[in-house]
Amino acid sequence: MQTNITYLKGVGTARAELLKKELGIKTYADLANFFPNRYIDRTHFFKTNELHSNNSEVQIIGQITSVKEIKQKRGSRLTALFSDEYGSIALVWFQRVKWIKDSLKPNVNYICFGKITVFNGKFTITHPELELVSEYNKSLRTAMQAIYPSTEMLLKRYVNNRVISKMMQQLFLEIKGRFVETLSNEIIKTNKLVSKNMAMYHIHFPTSQEALQKAQFRLKFEELFFIQLQLIRKNRIHKTKFKSYPFQKIGTHFNNFYNNNLPFKLTNAQKRVLKEIRKDLNTGAHMNRLLQGDVGSGKTIVALLSMLIALDNKYQATLIAPTAILATQHFESIVKLLENTNINVALLQGSTKAKERKIIHKNLENNTLHILIGTHAILEDKVKFKNLGLAIIDEQHRFGVAQRAKMWLKNTLPPHILVMTATPIPRTLAMSIYGDLDISVIDELPPGRKEIKTVHRFDKNRLAVFKFLKDEIAKGRQVYIVYPLIQESEAMDYKDLMDGYASISRDFPKPKYQISIVHGKMKAEDKSFEMERFIKNQTQIMVATTVIEVGVNIPNASVMVIESAERFGLSQLHQLRGRVGRGAEQSFCILMSSFKLNANAKLRLKTMEQTNDGFEIAEVDLKLRGPGNLMGTQQSGILNLKIADVVKDATILSLARKVANKVLNEDVNLKLKKNNPINITYKKIAKNQSLWINIS
Ligand code: ADP
Ligand code: MG
Repeated sequence: MQTNITYLKGVGTARAELLKKELGIKTYADLANFFPNRYIDRTHFFKTNELHSNNSEVQIIGQITSVKEIKQKRGSRLTALFSDEYGSIALVWFQRVKWIKDSLKPNVNYICFGKITVFNGKFTITHPELELVSEYNKSLRTAMQAIYPSTEMLLKRYVNNRVISKMMQQLFLEIKGRFVETLSNEIIKTNKLVSKNMAMYHIHFPTSQEALQKAQFRLKFEELFFIQLQLIRKNRIHKTKFKSYPFQKIGTHFNNFYNNNLPFKLTNAQKRVLKEIRKDLNTGAHMNRLLQGDVGSGKTIVALLSMLIALDNKYQATLIAPTAILATQHFESIVKLLENTNINVALLQGSTKAKERKIIHKNLENNTLHILIGTHAILEDKVKFKNLGLAIIDEQHRFGVAQRAKMWLKNTLPPHILVMTATPIPRTLAMSIYGDLDISVIDELPPGRKEIKTVHRFDKNRLAVFKFLKDEIAKGRQVYIVYPLIQESEAMDYKDLMDGYASISRDFPKPKYQISIVHGKMKAEDKSFEMERFIKNQTQIMVATTVIEVGVNIPNASVMVIESAERFGLSQLHQLRGRVGRGAEQSFCILMSSFKLNANAKLRLKTMEQTNDGFEIAEVDLKLRGPGNLMGTQQSGILNLKIADVVKDATILSLARKVANKVLNEDVNLKLKKNNPINITYKKIAKNQSLWINIS
């Protein structure tokens, strides 16, 4: 299997070089694992009087009855008549005319394959595939023909599908039946899978639709199974290998707060998630949990209650947010919630004065400071805790893995980690990316929350929109107007923002209306200053680029206008909309766009109008953009899947995960005899992350 592809009959050095460069194929194994991306059903042979001009691919048995070379302005064109006993069609070539002309044989039966078109009133196939019937009968090739992915360079060098197909046949003749089984008998039996050998054969040379389907199922299952096995095993090992402080007590801090100071009843989802966290915290294993919850689902209170558990066990806790504004908001709301307690909370951010910092450092080290809230500033080496037990990170995608790792270095034992994100990730995807984390989901909004009414308006309706804004402002509400800012078109976007600001200023004149503006080119202090004015309701309109996207909570702001909404992705639109709908009032989101919209943009805007559910939106987003463009997928292996597709094969993924869990429950180290094939493959994968090459 590891034989260099150069040694395969019909390959040679030049082709081997080409295959390596274009397709990354270096060995026999690589070639065997180069899978077709579609198939043509060649179970049926057409007769020349049965043809239709429906642009489909057909195959006909017949003979070449005449050949003509026609000189053209550039080069020449070759035409031939291809006849069976019912009539004839035309074959046409524009390339390699001389070579083809010499190779065409009269009076022998060919199978002619290609796409039927009508040219000068005659059925025609341009650049047909011709194969001698005598060859066809000898070949491994089956009725369903595999079509392999190709590249321009390959075609230019005449390595077309037929050539690849031939190489594949040669390969299978040489290695016949030597694929090592990677799954246990038990898994194969219970899940009614075909064997590795059978699957590999039928993926390249399917004898029927059914055989193909079974081969695909088996190979997709296998691929997803080994990924899940790795992720789940990593998670289990993490739990046994990494210890952290066991928080066995639920004490006075938690109970007092829960019984006396909780400002509302927790939702069932919040209760469930809290239970999951409590369970993690008291085992002595290290918690590594992701908390997903849509904007406004109430993650903050869950964070606070978790921190109180740490405090009850005499440990400190910290909450880190990606921006100063968010950190400040968290600080203020938590201080307010803890008003009647003796818990000490401090805020640490880049702008914290040296004198104040000193006090924080001192109190952290003598354990009189219980909860530290802040920005990246907390990660600096000089910030030392006496005994940090729990670190909570809000809006995780703004933080790098390296920064998360830094939290570990603050203690002898790593503190428990809870990562909170408002980016809803579809379940299937979460399983494949974060399979090594534990995931909690708050899938329920607090009661009484009104849906944010969302409408799409064209630019020409702007006057009516402005009128609506004035009415809302007259009721005491505040308004966001957000402009896109895309790096590639930054200069243009700033101009749009400034033009927009100027026109809004004209339509909403001072002193009746006060307008704030916030964008990335402003100094941090100026941004905070403007933000503060808006928070304090000194300004009614906030004109901004997407800097306000994350987490800001201003309950009185009830209208979100998104300019050029067609330029935003779905998850971003949803995040922006989440800035409103935080108070008791009915909130609105107005998506402004130009008249010209492509189908994709239309679907995005329509989805926003139809639903407020972040998970539903994430599913649509996943279908529109594929997993590669979603947040957080870049580092994960799911982009390099060879045959499975996390979106389309979600049910196979669930099955694979279930089976992987079952195997590990019984035999975490894969030491049982029956799991030997799995163990061998698993080890190979672990050694070299490139999955498929090693499976075979
Ligand atoms: P997010 O998950 O976006 O961080 P927050 O924690 O900021 O959400 O909560 C959003 C708002 O909902 C806050 O004003 C909070 O006080 C309120 N809230 C949270 N949980 C509940 C609940 N169970 N019942 C009523 N209001 C709640
Ligand atoms: Mg939040």
